[in-house]
Amino acid sequence: MRITSILLLICCFLLSSCDQQTATTSSNTVNRDESFNTFKEVFIEAYWKQYPGHSLWQGYRKYDHILTVPDANARAASRKFCKSYLDRLSDYKLNQLSPNNRTDFQMIKNELESNLWSLDKFKQYEWSPSSYNIAGSFNRILINRDIPLDDRLKTIGQRLENVRDYYAAAEKNIKNPTKEYTELAIQQNRGGISIFTTKIIDSLKVSKLDFKTKENISVKCLQAKGAINGYIDFLNTRLKQKKAFKSFRIGEALFEEKFKFNIVSEYTAKQMFEKAVAHKQSIHSEMAKMSRALWPKYFKGEEPPADSLVMIRKMIDRIADKHATKEGYFDAIKNQIPELAKFVKEKNLLYLDPDKPLEVRVTPPFQRGFSIASISAPGPYDKDAPTFYNVSPIDDYSDERAESHLREYNHYLLQVLNIHEAIPGHYAQLVYANKSPSIIKSVFGNGAMIEGWAVYTEKMMLEEGYGDHEPEMWLMYYKWNLRVTCNTIIDYGIHVLDYSEQQVLDILMNEAFQETTEATGKWRRATLSQVQLCSYFSGFKEIYDFRETLKQKKGDAFDLKAFHEQFLSYGSAPVKYVKALMDGE
Ligand code: ZN
Ligand code: ZN
Repeated sequence: MRITSILLLICCFLLSSCDQQTATTSSNTVNRDESFNTFKEVFIEAYWKQYPGHSLWQGYRKYDHILTVPDANARAASRKFCKSYLDRLSDYKLNQLSPNNRTDFQMIKNELESNLWSLDKFKQYEWSPSSYNIAGSFNRILINRDIPLDDRLKTIGQRLENVRDYYAAAEKNIKNPTKEYTELAIQQNRGGISIFTTKIIDSLKVSKLDFKTKENISVKCLQAKGAINGYIDFLNTRLKQKKAFKSFRIGEALFEEKFKFNIVSEYTAKQMFEKAVAHKQSIHSEMAKMSRALWPKYFKGEEPPADSLVMIRKMIDRIADKHATKEGYFDAIKNQIPELAKFVKEKNLLYLDPDKPLEVRVTPPFQRGFSIASISAPGPYDKDAPTFYNVSPIDDYSDERAESHLREYNHYLLQVLNIHEAIPGHYAQLVYANKSPSIIKSVFGNGAMIEGWAVYTEKMMLEEGYGDHEPEMWLMYYKWNLRVTCNTIIDYGIHVLDYSEQQVLDILMNEAFQETTEATGKWRRATLSQVQLCSYFSGFKEIYDFRETLKQKKGDAFDLKAFHEQFLSYGSAPVKYVKALMDGE
Protein backbone atom coordinates (compact mmCIF):
# COMPACT_ATOMS: atom_id res chain seq x y z
CA MET A 1 0.00 0.00 0.00
CA ARG A 2 2.16 2.84 -1.18
CA ILE A 3 2.01 5.87 -3.62
CA THR A 4 3.31 7.69 -6.77
CA SER A 5 3.91 11.36 -7.10
CA ILE A 6 5.86 11.40 -3.88
CA LEU A 7 8.68 9.58 -5.50
CA LEU A 8 9.41 12.45 -7.79
CA LEU A 9 9.54 14.64 -4.73
CA ILE A 10 12.00 12.32 -3.07
CA CYS A 11 14.25 12.41 -6.14
CA CYS A 12 14.28 16.16 -5.98
CA PHE A 13 15.24 16.01 -2.33
CA LEU A 14 18.12 13.75 -3.11
CA LEU A 15 19.41 15.97 -5.87
CA SER A 16 19.24 19.07 -3.77
CA SER A 17 20.92 17.33 -0.88
CA CYS A 18 23.88 16.38 -3.02
CA ASP A 19 24.25 19.45 -5.18
CA GLN A 20 23.35 22.50 -3.23
CA GLN A 21 23.28 22.02 0.45
CA THR A 22 26.54 20.27 1.20
CA ALA A 23 27.61 23.16 3.38
CA THR A 24 25.59 21.95 6.38
CA THR A 25 27.84 21.55 9.38
CA SER A 26 28.27 18.16 10.97
CA SER A 27 27.21 19.35 14.43
CA ASN A 28 23.99 20.52 12.86
CA THR A 29 23.55 17.05 11.41
CA VAL A 30 24.02 15.48 14.82
CA ASN A 31 21.40 17.76 16.35
CA ARG A 32 18.87 17.11 13.63
CA ASP A 33 19.56 13.40 13.85
CA GLU A 34 18.90 13.39 17.56
CA SER A 35 15.71 15.29 17.02
CA PHE A 36 14.70 12.93 14.23
CA ASN A 37 15.39 9.91 16.44
CA THR A 38 12.96 11.30 18.98
CA PHE A 39 10.46 12.03 16.22
CA LYS A 40 10.67 8.40 15.06
CA GLU A 41 9.98 7.10 18.54
CA VAL A 42 6.96 9.33 18.92
CA PHE A 43 5.78 8.45 15.43
CA ILE A 44 5.97 4.68 15.82
CA GLU A 45 4.16 4.72 19.17
CA ALA A 46 1.44 6.88 17.63
CA TYR A 47 1.34 4.61 14.58
CA TRP A 48 0.63 1.53 16.70
CA LYS A 49 -2.05 3.39 18.57
CA GLN A 50 -3.62 4.50 15.30
CA TYR A 51 -3.37 1.06 13.69
CA PRO A 52 -3.76 -1.59 16.42
CA GLY A 53 -4.31 -4.24 13.74
CA HIS A 54 -0.77 -3.70 12.37
CA SER A 55 0.76 -3.61 15.83
CA LEU A 56 -0.68 -7.02 16.60
CA TRP A 57 1.13 -8.61 13.67
CA GLN A 58 4.41 -6.97 14.71
CA GLY A 59 4.22 -8.49 18.18
CA TYR A 60 3.73 -5.13 19.89
CA ARG A 61 0.93 -6.54 22.14
CA LYS A 62 -0.19 -3.31 23.85
CA TYR A 63 -3.29 -2.87 21.67
CA ASP A 64 -4.16 -6.51 20.99
CA HIS A 65 -7.47 -6.10 22.81
CA ILE A 66 -8.71 -3.52 20.30
CA LEU A 67 -10.51 -4.53 17.10
CA THR A 68 -10.81 -1.43 14.93
CA VAL A 69 -14.22 -1.00 13.33
CA PRO A 70 -13.43 -0.20 9.68
CA ASP A 71 -15.99 2.56 9.24
CA ALA A 72 -15.91 6.11 7.86
CA ASN A 73 -14.76 7.43 11.25
CA ALA A 74 -11.75 5.14 11.23
CA ARG A 75 -10.87 6.29 7.72
CA ALA A 76 -11.19 9.93 8.71
CA ALA A 77 -8.92 9.35 11.70
CA SER A 78 -6.40 7.55 9.52
CA ARG A 79 -6.41 10.38 6.99
CA LYS A 80 -5.89 12.93 9.74
CA PHE A 81 -3.06 10.92 11.23
CA CYS A 82 -1.20 10.61 7.91
CA LYS A 83 -1.58 14.28 7.04
CA SER A 84 -0.45 15.41 10.45
CA TYR A 85 2.67 13.25 10.42
CA LEU A 86 3.53 14.24 6.86
CA ASP A 87 3.35 17.79 8.06
CA ARG A 88 5.67 17.11 10.99
CA LEU A 89 8.02 15.24 8.71
CA SER A 90 8.42 18.31 6.52
CA ASP A 91 10.27 20.01 9.38
CA TYR A 92 13.28 17.86 8.49
CA LYS A 93 15.58 18.17 5.50
CA LEU A 94 17.15 15.04 4.07
CA ASN A 95 20.66 16.47 3.88
CA GLN A 96 20.61 17.18 7.62
CA LEU A 97 20.21 13.52 8.45
CA SER A 98 22.53 10.53 8.65
CA PRO A 99 22.18 7.85 5.93
CA ASN A 100 20.21 5.63 8.31
CA ASN A 101 17.77 8.40 9.11
CA ARG A 102 17.53 9.55 5.51
CA THR A 103 16.19 6.17 4.44
CA ASP A 104 13.89 6.09 7.47
CA PHE A 105 12.58 9.53 6.54
CA GLN A 106 11.83 8.39 3.00
CA MET A 107 10.20 5.18 4.17
CA ILE A 108 7.91 6.94 6.64
CA LYS A 109 6.94 9.47 3.98
CA ASN A 110 6.25 6.73 1.47
CA GLU A 111 4.14 4.83 3.98
CA LEU A 112 2.01 7.82 4.91
CA GLU A 113 1.46 8.98 1.33
CA SER A 114 0.72 5.42 0.34
CA ASN A 115 -1.94 5.19 3.05
CA LEU A 116 -3.57 8.36 1.81
CA TRP A 117 -3.56 7.03 -1.74
CA SER A 118 -5.17 3.78 -0.57
CA LEU A 119 -7.83 5.68 1.34
CA ASP A 120 -8.74 8.19 -1.30
CA LYS A 121 -7.83 6.66 -4.62
CA PHE A 122 -7.29 2.91 -4.57
CA LYS A 123 -10.17 2.33 -2.14
CA GLN A 124 -9.72 -1.39 -1.89
CA TYR A 125 -12.04 -1.33 1.14
CA GLU A 126 -14.92 -0.84 -1.31
CA TRP A 127 -14.17 -3.72 -3.65
CA SER A 128 -12.29 -6.38 -1.71
CA PRO A 129 -14.63 -8.25 0.66
CA SER A 130 -11.76 -10.48 1.75
CA SER A 131 -10.14 -7.49 3.47
CA TYR A 132 -12.62 -8.24 6.25
CA ASN A 133 -11.82 -11.30 8.27
CA ILE A 134 -11.20 -11.44 12.00
CA ALA A 135 -10.04 -15.04 12.32
CA GLY A 136 -6.32 -14.53 11.73
CA SER A 137 -5.82 -11.93 14.44
CA PHE A 138 -7.74 -13.94 17.07
CA ASN A 139 -5.79 -17.04 16.17
CA ARG A 140 -2.52 -15.13 16.44
CA ILE A 141 -3.33 -14.08 19.99
CA LEU A 142 -4.58 -17.53 20.95
CA ILE A 143 -1.46 -19.44 19.82
CA ASN A 144 1.09 -17.08 21.41
CA ARG A 145 2.55 -19.33 24.08
CA ASP A 146 4.76 -16.55 25.46
CA ILE A 147 1.70 -15.20 27.26
CA PRO A 148 -0.22 -17.13 29.97
CA LEU A 149 -3.39 -18.68 28.58
CA ASP A 150 -5.74 -16.81 30.95
CA ASP A 151 -4.29 -13.48 29.85
CA ARG A 152 -4.65 -14.41 26.19
CA LEU A 153 -8.29 -15.32 26.75
CA LYS A 154 -8.98 -12.06 28.57
CA THR A 155 -7.52 -10.13 25.64
CA ILE A 156 -9.66 -12.18 23.28
CA GLY A 157 -12.75 -11.41 25.39
CA GLN A 158 -12.11 -7.68 25.04
CA ARG A 159 -11.31 -7.93 21.36
CA LEU A 160 -14.58 -9.76 20.68
CA GLU A 161 -16.50 -6.68 21.81
CA ASN A 162 -16.49 -4.99 18.38
CA VAL A 163 -17.08 -7.98 16.12
CA ARG A 164 -20.68 -7.18 15.22
CA ASP A 165 -19.88 -3.52 14.48
CA TYR A 166 -16.88 -4.67 12.48
CA TYR A 167 -18.92 -6.78 10.07
CA ALA A 168 -21.71 -4.22 9.92
CA ALA A 169 -19.14 -1.64 8.75
CA ALA A 170 -17.74 -4.13 6.26
CA GLU A 171 -21.14 -4.63 4.63
CA LYS A 172 -21.62 -0.90 4.45
CA ASN A 173 -18.20 -0.37 2.83
CA ILE A 174 -18.65 -2.84 0.00
CA LYS A 175 -19.84 -1.00 -3.07
CA ASN A 176 -18.49 -2.69 -6.16
CA PRO A 177 -16.72 -5.93 -5.27
CA THR A 178 -14.79 -8.14 -7.65
CA LYS A 179 -16.19 -11.63 -7.97
CA GLU A 180 -12.82 -13.16 -7.11
CA TYR A 181 -12.44 -11.27 -3.83
CA THR A 182 -16.08 -12.03 -2.95
CA GLU A 183 -15.57 -15.76 -3.38
CA LEU A 184 -12.29 -15.63 -1.49
CA ALA A 185 -13.96 -13.74 1.38
CA ILE A 186 -16.64 -16.41 1.69
CA GLN A 187 -14.10 -19.19 1.66
CA GLN A 188 -11.74 -17.54 4.16
CA ASN A 189 -14.40 -16.33 6.57
CA ARG A 190 -16.02 -19.73 6.55
CA GLY A 191 -12.61 -21.29 7.24
CA GLY A 192 -12.16 -19.00 10.24
CA ILE A 193 -15.36 -19.86 12.11
CA SER A 194 -13.87 -22.85 13.93
CA ILE A 195 -11.64 -20.52 15.93
CA PHE A 196 -14.77 -19.26 17.68
CA THR A 197 -16.74 -22.51 17.80
CA THR A 198 -13.88 -24.81 18.78
CA LYS A 199 -10.43 -23.38 19.41
CA ILE A 200 -11.28 -20.61 21.86
CA ILE A 201 -13.96 -22.75 23.53
CA ASP A 202 -11.51 -25.62 24.03
CA SER A 203 -8.96 -23.24 25.54
CA LEU A 204 -11.62 -21.85 27.90
CA LYS A 205 -12.24 -25.35 29.20
CA VAL A 206 -8.63 -25.74 30.37
CA SER A 207 -8.22 -22.16 31.63
CA LYS A 208 -8.38 -21.07 35.27
CA LEU A 209 -10.62 -18.10 34.65
CA ASP A 210 -13.71 -17.76 36.83
CA PHE A 211 -17.01 -19.16 35.62
CA LYS A 212 -18.58 -15.79 34.81
CA THR A 213 -15.68 -14.64 32.65
CA LYS A 214 -15.68 -17.93 30.77
CA GLU A 215 -19.41 -17.71 30.22
CA ASN A 216 -19.08 -14.17 28.96
CA ILE A 217 -16.38 -15.07 26.41
CA SER A 218 -18.38 -18.11 25.24
CA VAL A 219 -21.43 -15.95 24.57
CA LYS A 220 -19.34 -13.46 22.61
CA CYS A 221 -17.87 -16.32 20.57
CA LEU A 222 -21.39 -17.39 19.63
CA GLN A 223 -22.21 -13.84 18.60
CA ALA A 224 -19.02 -13.67 16.55
CA LYS A 225 -20.03 -16.83 14.75
CA GLY A 226 -23.40 -15.22 14.01
CA ALA A 227 -21.75 -12.05 12.69
CA ILE A 228 -19.42 -14.00 10.40
CA ASN A 229 -22.28 -16.11 9.06
CA GLY A 230 -24.29 -12.95 8.49
CA TYR A 231 -21.43 -11.53 6.43
CA ILE A 232 -21.15 -14.75 4.43
CA ASP A 233 -24.91 -14.61 3.71
CA PHE A 234 -24.57 -11.01 2.61
CA LEU A 235 -21.80 -11.97 0.17
CA ASN A 236 -23.67 -15.01 -1.12
CA THR A 237 -26.68 -12.82 -1.82
CA ARG A 238 -24.44 -10.44 -3.76
CA LEU A 239 -23.12 -13.37 -5.80
CA LYS A 240 -26.64 -14.42 -6.74
CA GLN A 241 -27.68 -10.95 -7.87
CA LYS A 242 -27.63 -10.22 -11.58
CA LYS A 243 -25.56 -7.07 -10.92
CA ALA A 244 -22.19 -6.92 -12.64
CA PHE A 245 -18.95 -7.27 -10.67
CA LYS A 246 -16.00 -4.94 -10.83
CA SER A 247 -13.16 -6.32 -12.94
CA PHE A 248 -10.22 -7.68 -10.94
CA ARG A 249 -7.91 -5.93 -13.42
CA ILE A 250 -6.93 -2.58 -11.94
CA GLY A 251 -5.72 -1.03 -15.21
CA GLU A 252 -2.59 0.92 -16.14
CA ALA A 253 -2.92 4.10 -14.06
CA LEU A 254 -3.57 2.38 -10.72
CA PHE A 255 -1.05 -0.35 -11.43
CA GLU A 256 1.68 2.23 -12.09
CA GLU A 257 0.80 4.10 -8.91
CA LYS A 258 0.70 1.02 -6.75
CA PHE A 259 4.00 -0.10 -8.29
CA LYS A 260 5.63 3.19 -7.29
CA PHE A 261 4.44 2.91 -3.70
CA ASN A 262 5.13 -0.77 -3.20
CA ILE A 263 8.27 -1.37 -5.20
CA VAL A 264 9.82 2.10 -4.92
CA SER A 265 11.82 1.64 -8.08
CA GLU A 266 13.68 3.95 -10.41
CA TYR A 267 11.64 2.42 -13.20
CA THR A 268 7.98 2.46 -14.08
CA ALA A 269 6.00 -0.78 -14.07
CA LYS A 270 5.95 -0.65 -17.86
CA GLN A 271 9.73 -0.38 -18.05
CA MET A 272 10.08 -3.25 -15.59
CA PHE A 273 7.70 -5.36 -17.66
CA GLU A 274 9.80 -4.70 -20.76
CA LYS A 275 12.96 -5.64 -18.88
CA ALA A 276 11.32 -8.89 -17.80
CA VAL A 277 10.32 -9.76 -21.36
CA ALA A 278 13.87 -9.12 -22.61
CA HIS A 279 15.30 -11.10 -19.69
CA LYS A 280 13.06 -14.06 -20.49
CA GLN A 281 14.27 -14.09 -24.07
CA SER A 282 17.92 -14.03 -23.09
CA ILE A 283 17.37 -16.85 -20.58
CA HIS A 284 15.68 -18.92 -23.28
CA SER A 285 18.62 -18.58 -25.62
CA GLU A 286 21.09 -19.51 -22.85
CA MET A 287 18.99 -22.54 -21.93
CA ALA A 288 18.77 -23.66 -25.55
CA LYS A 289 22.54 -23.48 -25.92
CA MET A 290 23.10 -25.50 -22.75
CA SER A 291 20.45 -28.09 -23.55
CA ARG A 292 21.87 -28.64 -27.01
CA ALA A 293 25.35 -29.16 -25.58
CA LEU A 294 24.07 -31.53 -22.88
CA TRP A 295 21.79 -33.46 -25.23
CA PRO A 296 24.15 -36.33 -26.18
CA LYS A 297 24.99 -36.95 -22.49
CA TYR A 298 21.34 -37.64 -21.59
CA PHE A 299 19.73 -38.69 -24.90
CA LYS A 300 22.38 -40.65 -26.73
CA GLY A 301 21.45 -41.41 -30.34
CA GLU A 302 18.21 -39.42 -30.15
CA GLU A 303 17.58 -36.33 -32.29
CA PRO A 304 16.82 -33.19 -30.25
CA PRO A 305 13.36 -31.70 -30.92
CA ALA A 306 13.39 -28.88 -33.48
CA ASP A 307 11.45 -26.53 -31.20
CA SER A 308 14.02 -25.28 -28.71
CA LEU A 309 11.46 -24.74 -25.91
CA VAL A 310 10.37 -28.36 -26.27
CA MET A 311 13.99 -29.47 -26.17
CA ILE A 312 14.68 -27.46 -23.00
CA ARG A 313 11.62 -28.92 -21.31
CA LYS A 314 12.75 -32.47 -22.10
CA MET A 315 16.20 -31.77 -20.76
CA ILE A 316 14.87 -30.26 -17.53
CA ASP A 317 12.58 -33.24 -16.99
CA ARG A 318 15.51 -35.59 -17.37
CA ILE A 319 17.80 -33.66 -15.03
CA ALA A 320 15.05 -33.65 -12.37
CA ASP A 321 15.57 -37.41 -12.03
CA LYS A 322 18.45 -36.61 -9.69
CA HIS A 323 16.76 -35.89 -6.38
CA ALA A 324 16.75 -36.74 -2.65
CA THR A 325 14.71 -39.62 -1.26
CA LYS A 326 11.60 -38.98 0.80
CA GLU A 327 13.47 -40.08 3.94
CA GLY A 328 16.63 -38.15 3.12
CA TYR A 329 14.94 -34.89 2.13
CA PHE A 330 15.22 -33.04 5.45
CA ASP A 331 18.86 -34.00 5.95
CA ALA A 332 19.67 -33.01 2.38
CA ILE A 333 18.54 -29.50 3.22
CA LYS A 334 20.10 -29.44 6.66
CA ASN A 335 23.49 -30.63 5.44
CA GLN A 336 23.66 -27.97 2.76
CA ILE A 337 23.54 -25.02 5.13
CA PRO A 338 27.11 -25.40 6.49
CA GLU A 339 28.32 -26.05 2.92
CA LEU A 340 26.85 -22.75 1.78
CA ALA A 341 28.37 -20.89 4.73
CA LYS A 342 31.75 -22.44 3.96
CA PHE A 343 31.57 -21.41 0.31
CA VAL A 344 30.60 -17.82 1.17
CA LYS A 345 33.56 -17.61 3.54
CA GLU A 346 36.10 -19.23 1.22
CA LYS A 347 35.14 -17.08 -1.73
CA ASN A 348 35.07 -13.94 0.38
CA LEU A 349 31.53 -12.99 -0.58
CA LEU A 350 30.07 -11.71 2.68
CA TYR A 351 30.88 -11.69 6.37
CA LEU A 352 28.56 -14.07 8.25
CA ASP A 353 28.19 -13.45 11.97
CA PRO A 354 29.05 -16.72 13.78
CA ASP A 355 27.09 -15.52 16.83
CA LYS A 356 23.82 -15.65 14.91
CA PRO A 357 23.51 -19.32 13.95
CA LEU A 358 20.68 -20.58 11.83
CA GLU A 359 18.74 -23.54 13.19
CA VAL A 360 17.18 -25.85 10.65
CA ARG A 361 13.94 -27.40 11.93
CA VAL A 362 10.78 -29.08 10.75
CA THR A 363 8.09 -26.40 10.35
CA PRO A 364 5.89 -26.30 13.48
CA PRO A 365 2.36 -27.58 12.70
CA PHE A 366 0.60 -24.21 13.06
CA GLN A 367 2.89 -22.61 10.46
CA ARG A 368 2.49 -25.30 7.82
CA GLY A 369 0.69 -25.05 4.55
CA PHE A 370 2.12 -21.77 3.24
CA SER A 371 5.52 -22.60 1.86
CA ILE A 372 7.90 -25.50 1.51
CA ALA A 373 10.65 -23.62 3.34
CA SER A 374 10.78 -20.32 5.18
CA ILE A 375 12.78 -18.25 7.64
CA SER A 376 11.32 -17.43 11.08
CA ALA A 377 13.22 -14.43 12.28
CA PRO A 378 12.90 -12.48 15.50
CA GLY A 379 10.70 -9.44 15.09
CA PRO A 380 11.69 -5.90 16.09
CA TYR A 381 10.34 -6.45 19.61
CA ASP A 382 12.12 -9.73 20.35
CA LYS A 383 15.50 -9.36 18.69
CA ASP A 384 17.33 -11.96 20.74
CA ALA A 385 15.09 -14.86 19.79
CA PRO A 386 16.76 -17.48 17.57
CA THR A 387 16.36 -17.61 13.80
CA PHE A 388 14.88 -20.79 12.34
CA TYR A 389 14.94 -22.26 8.88
CA ASN A 390 11.59 -24.05 8.67
CA VAL A 391 11.34 -27.00 6.33
CA SER A 392 7.85 -28.37 5.74
CA PRO A 393 7.92 -32.15 6.19
CA ILE A 394 6.91 -34.42 3.32
CA ASP A 395 6.72 -37.64 5.40
CA ASP A 396 2.95 -37.72 5.23
CA TYR A 397 2.84 -37.20 1.44
CA SER A 398 1.68 -40.11 -0.70
CA ASP A 399 4.54 -41.65 -2.68
CA GLU A 400 3.22 -40.06 -5.84
CA ARG A 401 2.98 -36.60 -4.34
CA ALA A 402 6.39 -36.95 -2.70
CA GLU A 403 7.96 -37.99 -6.00
CA SER A 404 6.50 -34.97 -7.76
CA HIS A 405 7.71 -32.67 -4.98
CA LEU A 406 11.19 -34.22 -4.98
CA ARG A 407 11.45 -33.90 -8.75
CA GLU A 408 10.50 -30.23 -8.55
CA TYR A 409 12.94 -29.59 -5.67
CA ASN A 410 15.56 -31.85 -7.15
CA HIS A 411 19.27 -32.09 -6.34
CA TYR A 412 20.02 -28.83 -8.18
CA LEU A 413 17.00 -26.74 -7.36
CA LEU A 414 17.16 -27.57 -3.66
CA GLN A 415 20.53 -25.83 -3.53
CA VAL A 416 19.16 -22.74 -5.23
CA LEU A 417 16.27 -22.76 -2.75
CA ASN A 418 18.68 -22.90 0.18
CA ILE A 419 20.72 -20.05 -1.23
CA HIS A 420 17.53 -18.01 -1.55
CA GLU A 421 16.04 -18.75 1.85
CA ALA A 422 19.15 -19.10 3.96
CA ILE A 423 22.73 -18.34 2.95
CA PRO A 424 23.49 -15.79 1.65
CA GLY A 425 19.81 -14.98 0.91
CA HIS A 426 17.03 -14.06 3.35
CA TYR A 427 18.69 -15.22 6.53
CA ALA A 428 21.96 -13.38 5.91
CA GLN A 429 20.10 -10.24 4.86
CA LEU A 430 18.04 -10.35 8.05
CA VAL A 431 21.11 -10.59 10.25
CA TYR A 432 22.48 -7.46 8.58
CA ALA A 433 19.11 -5.73 8.78
CA ASN A 434 19.01 -6.30 12.53
CA LYS A 435 22.36 -4.55 12.81
CA SER A 436 20.89 -1.45 11.22
CA PRO A 437 18.97 -0.53 14.34
CA SER A 438 15.88 0.94 12.80
CA ILE A 439 12.43 -0.05 13.87
CA ILE A 440 11.16 1.86 10.82
CA LYS A 441 13.01 -0.45 8.44
CA SER A 442 11.86 -3.54 10.32
CA VAL A 443 8.25 -2.44 10.24
CA PHE A 444 8.10 -0.88 6.76
CA GLY A 445 10.78 -3.07 5.16
CA ASN A 446 10.70 -2.96 1.37
CA GLY A 447 9.56 -6.27 -0.11
CA ALA A 448 11.29 -5.74 -3.45
CA MET A 449 14.63 -5.18 -1.72
CA ILE A 450 14.20 -8.20 0.56
CA GLU A 451 13.09 -10.58 -2.19
CA GLY A 452 15.41 -8.96 -4.73
CA TRP A 453 18.42 -9.64 -2.53
CA ALA A 454 17.52 -13.32 -2.14
CA VAL A 455 17.00 -13.69 -5.91
CA TYR A 456 20.22 -11.78 -6.60
CA THR A 457 22.28 -14.11 -4.39
CA GLU A 458 21.16 -17.17 -6.39
CA LYS A 459 22.83 -15.87 -9.53
CA MET A 460 25.81 -14.40 -7.69
CA MET A 461 26.59 -17.74 -6.02
CA LEU A 462 26.49 -19.60 -9.31
CA GLU A 463 28.66 -16.99 -11.00
CA GLU A 464 31.20 -17.42 -8.21
CA GLY A 465 31.33 -21.14 -8.92
CA TYR A 466 28.86 -22.71 -6.52
CA GLY A 467 27.90 -26.03 -8.14
CA ASP A 468 31.17 -26.12 -10.11
CA HIS A 469 29.65 -24.31 -13.11
CA GLU A 470 27.74 -27.48 -14.00
CA PRO A 471 25.34 -26.78 -16.88
CA GLU A 472 22.67 -28.86 -15.10
CA MET A 473 22.82 -26.48 -12.16
CA TRP A 474 22.55 -23.46 -14.43
CA LEU A 475 19.63 -24.94 -16.36
CA MET A 476 17.69 -25.53 -13.15
CA TYR A 477 18.62 -22.09 -11.91
CA TYR A 478 17.30 -20.55 -15.11
CA LYS A 479 14.06 -22.46 -14.78
CA TRP A 480 13.73 -21.10 -11.24
CA ASN A 481 14.57 -17.59 -12.37
CA LEU A 482 11.97 -17.80 -15.15
CA ARG A 483 9.39 -18.14 -12.40
CA VAL A 484 10.10 -14.69 -10.93
CA THR A 485 10.63 -13.19 -14.37
CA CYS A 486 7.26 -14.47 -15.58
CA ASN A 487 5.58 -13.36 -12.33
CA THR A 488 6.32 -9.80 -13.40
CA ILE A 489 5.24 -10.44 -16.97
CA ILE A 490 1.89 -11.94 -16.07
CA ASP A 491 1.14 -9.48 -13.26
CA TYR A 492 1.53 -6.53 -15.59
CA GLY A 493 0.05 -8.47 -18.48
CA ILE A 494 -3.12 -9.36 -16.59
CA HIS A 495 -3.79 -6.00 -14.94
CA VAL A 496 -2.67 -3.67 -17.71
CA LEU A 497 -2.64 -5.60 -20.99
CA ASP A 498 -5.77 -7.72 -20.45
CA TYR A 499 -4.00 -11.07 -20.80
CA SER A 500 -6.54 -13.91 -20.88
CA GLU A 501 -6.27 -16.95 -18.63
CA GLN A 502 -5.19 -19.06 -21.60
CA GLN A 503 -2.48 -16.57 -22.54
CA VAL A 504 -1.14 -16.67 -18.99
CA LEU A 505 -1.19 -20.46 -18.80
CA ASP A 506 0.64 -20.65 -22.13
CA ILE A 507 3.39 -18.37 -20.88
CA LEU A 508 3.79 -20.22 -17.58
CA MET A 509 3.64 -23.73 -18.99
CA ASN A 510 5.40 -23.39 -22.35
CA GLU A 511 7.86 -20.63 -21.61
CA ALA A 512 8.51 -21.06 -17.87
CA PHE A 513 8.15 -24.87 -17.96
CA GLN A 514 5.63 -25.06 -15.12
CA GLU A 515 3.16 -27.83 -14.36
CA THR A 516 -0.59 -27.23 -14.71
CA THR A 517 -1.25 -26.95 -10.95
CA GLU A 518 1.43 -24.32 -10.43
CA ALA A 519 0.30 -22.33 -13.45
CA THR A 520 -3.41 -22.32 -12.57
CA GLY A 521 -2.54 -21.44 -8.96
CA LYS A 522 -0.50 -18.50 -10.20
CA TRP A 523 -3.35 -17.25 -12.41
CA ARG A 524 -5.65 -17.28 -9.39
CA ARG A 525 -3.10 -15.49 -7.22
CA ALA A 526 -2.68 -12.79 -9.87
CA THR A 527 -6.44 -12.15 -9.89
CA LEU A 528 -6.27 -11.64 -6.11
CA SER A 529 -3.23 -9.38 -5.91
CA GLN A 530 -1.63 -6.51 -7.76
CA VAL A 531 2.06 -5.58 -8.06
CA GLN A 532 3.24 -7.96 -5.31
CA LEU A 533 4.22 -10.52 -7.95
CA CYS A 534 6.54 -7.92 -9.50
CA SER A 535 8.63 -7.48 -6.37
CA TYR A 536 11.02 -10.42 -6.84
CA PHE A 537 12.18 -9.60 -10.33
CA SER A 538 12.16 -5.82 -9.82
CA GLY A 539 14.43 -5.99 -6.78
CA PHE A 540 16.71 -8.55 -8.41
CA LYS A 541 17.08 -6.56 -11.61
CA GLU A 542 17.85 -3.32 -9.84
CA ILE A 543 20.45 -4.84 -7.52
CA TYR A 544 22.13 -6.81 -10.30
CA ASP A 545 22.26 -3.88 -12.72
CA PHE A 546 23.53 -1.58 -10.00
CA ARG A 547 26.36 -3.99 -9.23
CA GLU A 548 27.28 -4.28 -12.90
CA THR A 549 27.39 -0.50 -13.27
CA LEU A 550 29.65 -0.16 -10.23
CA LYS A 551 31.89 -2.94 -11.51
CA GLN A 552 32.36 -1.12 -14.80
CA LYS A 553 32.99 2.16 -13.10
CA LYS A 554 35.51 0.86 -10.58
CA GLY A 555 37.25 -1.75 -12.73
CA ASP A 556 39.88 -3.70 -10.78
CA ALA A 557 39.14 -1.72 -7.63
CA PHE A 558 35.66 -3.26 -7.39
CA ASP A 559 35.36 -5.48 -4.30
CA LEU A 560 32.37 -7.83 -4.28
CA LYS A 561 32.43 -8.46 -0.53
CA ALA A 562 32.60 -4.76 0.26
CA PHE A 563 29.76 -4.11 -2.17
CA HIS A 564 27.54 -6.74 -0.51
CA GLU A 565 28.30 -5.57 3.00
CA GLN A 566 27.71 -1.93 2.24
CA PHE A 567 24.54 -2.72 0.32
CA LEU A 568 23.11 -4.65 3.27
CA SER A 569 24.25 -2.17 5.88
CA TYR A 570 21.29 0.16 5.36
CA GLY A 571 18.68 -2.41 6.38
CA SER A 572 15.63 -3.38 4.34
CA ALA A 573 15.35 -0.05 2.54
CA PRO A 574 14.25 0.23 -1.11
CA VAL A 575 17.09 -0.44 -3.58
CA LYS A 576 16.63 2.99 -5.08
CA TYR A 577 17.47 4.74 -1.78
CA VAL A 578 20.38 2.44 -1.06
CA LYS A 579 21.78 3.20 -4.50
CA ALA A 580 21.56 6.92 -3.89
CA LEU A 581 23.40 6.53 -0.58
CA MET A 582 26.10 4.30 -2.06
CA ASP A 583 26.60 6.58 -5.03
CA GLY A 584 26.96 9.53 -2.69
CA GLU A 585 29.83 7.93 -0.80
ZN1 ZN B 1 12.35 -39.98 -8.90
ZN1 ZN C 1 12.05 -15.09 -0.82
